[in-house]
Amino acid sequence: MSDLPASARVVVIGGGIVGCSTAYHLGKLGETETVLLERHKLTSGSTFHAAGLVGQLRSSANITQMLVNSVSLYRSLEEETGLATGWKMNGGLRLACNPERWTEVRRQATTAHSFGLEMHLLTPKEAQDLWPLMDVSDVVGAAFLPTDGQANPSDITQALARGARQTGVTIFEDPTVSAIETQNGRVSGVVTDRGRIACEKIVCCAGQWSRTLAASVGVCVPLVSVQHQYMITEPMEGIAPDLPTLRDQAADLFLVIGEAVRVTQRRKVRREPLHRHGDHVLVLQGNQRHANADRGVQRTAP
Ligand SMILES: Cc1cc2nc3c(=O)[nH]c(=O)nc-3n(C[C@H](O)[C@H](O)[C@H](O)COP(=O)(O)OP(=O)(O)OC[C@H]3O[C@@H](n4cnc5c(N)ncnc54)[C@H](O)[C@@H]3O)c2cc1C
Repeated sequence: MSDLPASARVVVIGGGIVGCSTAYHLGKLGETETVLLERHKLTSGSTFHAAGLVGQLRSSANITQMLVNSVSLYRSLEEETGLATGWKMNGGLRLACNPERWTEVRRQATTAHSFGLEMHLLTPKEAQDLWPLMDVSDVVGAAFLPTDGQANPSDITQALARGARQTGVTIFEDPTVSAIETQNGRVSGVVTDRGRIACEKIVCCAGQWSRTLAASVGVCVPLVSVQHQYMITEPMEGIAPDLPTLRDQAADLFLVIGEAVRVTQRRKVRREPLHRHGDHVLVLQGNQRHANADRGVQRTAP
């Protein structure tokens, strides 16, 4: 007999950061008849491989505000759930290496200031004062957000899952959702390898697998995966653990430093399947994160 409930109001599919955060927030809203289904273990998808930068500035004001809310949550989540999140508010530095990017950064500053997000525009020299090893010969200007930071994505996800459970939400690891059932154009349930759950609503948080799952019921999810490559460094003189995270959009490069240093380089989204590409770079320095990255490489194959 299945250990899954016969029915739920909401079924969340996927136990990465998005699924666990959705379950957490639904629980907080009183939607406790929510069941989350993860086909492997929580955080076993892309979340496991994330670099962990938490930057709030985006070109969309709504997304920036959502990220401001995330930072506010990350500041209190560990205390709320008793689980470490790796949250560190070491600030974020964004470089503008051409006049167009500098114009964009200054526009973003206006948006950020309009809803009270602290953001400072810096000269190249001021940016270098924050990151002394940096060559600023091609830097036009920079933005510094003191409330940006970094976190351990897997730990944050586990903390959100615990927070969701504390509200009454149920989480199942291992069942795979094989089909979404509909009646008269509305969701009526999910079929899994451990039984069926009748439900009123589904939140599809299956990450890069959402597209296929949604397509099975005629819904188009325009989601394309981008693969990152990364490098792992030896410890470097001049790299202090409290340096801010660093992004250079023009070079598609970012660095995270904690007990570790990570550099990720992102190239343009390509529309071929994920497994054909390996075009990102990440440098990581440290012990625990090093071990995670090694496992991550083996587990990347889609
Ligand atoms: C703190 C933090 C910092 C980050 N920093 C960066 C960064 O610096 N740079 C960057 O590029 N990205 C970053 N990311 C984003 C990250 O790279 C991923 O994009 C993100 O974690 C994806 O989350 P997800 O929940 O959508 O997908 P996933 O983590 O992939 O979760 C989807 C889950 O759905 C499950 N699933 C799939 N199909 C089914 C099914 N049929 N039945 C049941 N379960 C199913 C999978 O097993 C998987 O666990 C960050 C994320 C976090 C949390």
